[in-house]
Amino acid sequence: MSHTKKYTEVALHALKEKGYRITKPRRLVVEMLNTSDIALSAYEIRDRLEAEGEKVDKVSIYRILECLEENHLIHRVLMTGKVRKCQLEDEDHCHLNQADHCHHLLICEQCGFIEEVHCPGMNRIVQQVAEDAQFTVKSHHLEFLGLCQKCNSPHHKKTAAN
Ligand SMILES: [Zn+2]
Ligand SMILES: [Zn+2]
Ligand SMILES: [Zn+2]
Ligand SMILES: [Zn+2]
Repeated sequence: MSHTKKYTEVALHALKEKGYRITKPRRLVVEMLNTSDIALSAYEIRDRLEAEGEKVDKVSIYRILECLEENHLIHRVLMTGKVRKCQLEDEDHCHLNQADHCHHLLICEQCGFIEEVHCPGMNRIVQQVAEDAQFTVKSHHLEFLGLCQKCNSPHHKKTAAN
């Protein structure tokens, strides 16, 4: 895995800054999320931890995920409710408090690979929609489904068909 330790450090540091204690369950869940490039459910996180000999109950995992989500450290896939670490949170150009800043997911329907993109133009669209509908928009959800580069390559398609 390419980004091995960085996410764990960034996420735990962010929690500490917000005044959260770095308890063992919190650290375990963050470390588990770091190892996965695909989205996981709370059950899957619990099972994977258990396989490593660590016991964290489901309610605690739900609470930890809620906390991570509130702090923009994970993203939830709308269709499945599963979560994955935020991949962009430590980049220099990532300014979460900017009004027009969002992260959107590109989800591969074939292999589950998820890529994150910044959508700086979204704010204008949201403003337009709000204006047209006379509606106060507080948040929005948008994700893209399709095929990742790997699953879309002709070679991969051919071998998959055989
Ligand atoms: Zn993100
Ligand atoms: Zn960002
Ligand atoms: Zn957005
Ligand atoms: Zn794929």
